[in-house]
Amino acid sequence: MDVLNALGWVKFSIIYENNNGLIRVQELLKEHRYRITLRQLPRTEDYRPMLKDAKKAGVTHVVLDVERPNIFKVLKQAQQIGMLTSYHNYFVTSLDLHTVDLEDFRHGGTNITALRVVDPENAMVQRVIQDWVFGQTRYGRNANSPTAPTLMNNNITFLETEVALMYDAVQLFAKALHDLHRSRHIDLTRLECDGDATWVHGNSLINYMKWVEINGLTGLIKFDTEGFRRDVTLEIVEMTKDGLVRVGRWDPTNGANYTRTYQEVQQGIVESLQNKTLIISTILADPYTMLRETSERMTGNDRYEGFCVDLIHEIALVLGFNYTLKLASDGKHGKYHENTDKWDGMIGELLDQKADLAIGDLTITYEREQVVDFTMPWMNLGISILYRKPTRKPPNLFSFLSPLSLDVWLYMATAYLGVSLLLFVLARLSPYEWSVSAVLRPDDSNKTNTENQFSLHNSLWFTMGSLLQQGTDQQPKAVSTRIVAGIWWFFTLIMISSYTANLAAFLTVERMESPIEGAEDLAQQTKIKYGCLYGGSTWTFFSTSKMPTYQRMFNFMESQRPSVYSKSNEMGVERVLRGDGMYAYLMESSSIEYITERHCDLTQVGGLLDSKSYGIALPPGSPYRTLINSAVLKLQEMGRLHILKRRWWKEKRGGGRCEDDESKSSSKANELGLSNVGGVFVVLLAGMGLASVVAVCEFVWKSRKLATEEHASVWAEMGKEIRFALACSDSNKPVRKKSLDHENGPSYLSMNTYGSTFTASQYSFASKDPLS
Ligand code: GLU
Repeated sequence: MDVLNALGWVKFSIIYENNNGLIRVQELLKEHRYRITLRQLPRTEDYRPMLKDAKKAGVTHVVLDVERPNIFKVLKQAQQIGMLTSYHNYFVTSLDLHTVDLEDFRHGGTNITALRVVDPENAMVQRVIQDWVFGQTRYGRNANSPTAPTLMNNNITFLETEVALMYDAVQLFAKALHDLHRSRHIDLTRLECDGDATWVHGNSLINYMKWVEINGLTGLIKFDTEGFRRDVTLEIVEMTKDGLVRVGRWDPTNGANYTRTYQEVQQGIVESLQNKTLIISTILADPYTMLRETSERMTGNDRYEGFCVDLIHEIALVLGFNYTLKLASDGKHGKYHENTDKWDGMIGELLDQKADLAIGDLTITYEREQVVDFTMPWMNLGISILYRKPTRKPPNLFSFLSPLSLDVWLYMATAYLGVSLLLFVLARLSPYEWSVSAVLRPDDSNKTNTENQFSLHNSLWFTMGSLLQQGTDQQPKAVSTRIVAGIWWFFTLIMISSYTANLAAFLTVERMESPIEGAEDLAQQTKIKYGCLYGGSTWTFFSTSKMPTYQRMFNFMESQRPSVYSKSNEMGVERVLRGDGMYAYLMESSSIEYITERHCDLTQVGGLLDSKSYGIALPPGSPYRTLINSAVLKLQEMGRLHILKRRWWKEKRGGGRCEDDESKSSSKANELGLSNVGGVFVVLLAGMGLASVVAVCEFVWKSRKLATEEHASVWAEMGKEIRFALACSDSNKPVRKKSLDHENGPSYLSMNTYGSTFTASQYSFASKDPLS
């Protein structure tokens, strides 16, 4: 049990011969951790039917509990039916495996482990054997006596365990008797087996035997008070190319202790792989494994070419094995069938021990990983959609709106209204925007009106004019309104330039249109049919997905008649090509990449629905997994995988055909969003803020001046003016003062309403030419 635990066995079969065997393995049977199947050797000499049955049940680990003479027979017949391959592991309970001729099984790579108590290399054992053989030849004793040492084919002689134990027993008895004799005089009495008389020294002799310690052929011999042997050490032996070798030790206190290092184990596997021919299962799928395109008649591995063929070739070169490529009989990847409890495809071939490795576009999935071993991934991918390339979009009547996004148009309209309104308000607030509008006479000064050119109507017109790069009659005069105008002009400059530049791009680039942009679009419609390879990992993904979208897609695919599934990826691609946009194919991205390099009217739509990898599959518990892993990693680090991918995707078999197309379609014009032009809106807002502050300053400054001149309170003056500015709907207002401000100068026929002095020269100038 200790050794099996050290070996990591959990699921195994016990092959036993008789009830004694069952008693020996009862401790194993009691352990719930193990999943054990029991098989008894038939009474006939033909064990093959039983072994075949075990093979069919997928037994790879066997505890063999049969008598020494039958070990060879069982192993031989197991070899005949293919139960002695490198994927099989045997633990032989007999302590005499080293006396069995294992010559025939040394090179199969099978893991055979056993225990022994007699070390054949021990000097004492060697000497005893030599004496024995010498005695036999010299004195002509019967060489066929059951206790004679066993002479093997290779002329090496082994002692059977029972013989060695008997030898040790005699030695122990002799020593005890000798010691007893030394301690007291012992007399010999004649005794009858069926008589009542006993030997008086009997008990003492037994006690001496328990007490004595000697080094025998089976190691140190000592007993406990009950008379059981103590401190026995067993050697753990394993079969290699060179025969049985010691790999560890077992003792009752420390249990099984392996003395081999991990490197030594790996080295052993590397050696066992040298010049071995592995059967590689694969299936035809572009560009992984393809039939070679040649006019010559090809045989063997030369019939195939492709990414996987090159990959396995490189791995074989690194590890030094030979291989034979073999197409899986049903051409499938591997699906579990509940009704037959069997796997099909490449996975099935591995489980039926028809192949040593499986390579192809074989996805590593949870379900498969439960039954076979996978190496490191050699390519990463995900499910995506293969579909017809987008078609040209008919020109839109309103395509002039396209350069800017809807957001930007809405923001612009808001900015236009906002700026116009602000201009209107600031113009009313600022004293410098009011000018005299009527003929002014000194005697009739009360009837004089001042006018504000920025009525709401005019403000809207002014901003519209500048937005469309035109001019208007109104020109702002106050600093605040000029700031508004300046910032607005800056804003329009940037917006119009951006619009013009993007419009040019929009007019020159072809607009493409696709009815579907991803899996969501597919799931939401039923017009365009879609399907995938039946029974592959893509199908499994949809059938087991918990996402509502993928569940809906799976139900749709299942319900379609005729079926939307295909038997191979090639047929799926064919269907997309013929479908004229009415069929989309769910396929793995690496294969889509290959197809879109060659069929320029097909493309990948949307991103990846999941993320997974391809790996090389091996039968469960294959000893080669670690080595192949390292070989794959080595090739990856050397960049070989990258080179192979480029060769088979871009270069060979018409690759790179669609590259120009790709670059053309990838140049496209995008509408400008808020993220592109947002900054200029910020500048506009900041400008509006500044203008408002300046307008308030102007207003306060003038009110203060007026208040000083009129000897009124600043607050009262400001109140009056603000009420007027806000309440007055008219853009004209009467001049409140008898005099007008001279500050605006004679060049304007206008005076500020808050101006305090109306000079004579100005007055006369105005009165002379009232219309100018
Ligand atoms: N690579 C897949 C598999 O191992 C086959 C292709 C597919 O399902 O799309 O099953």
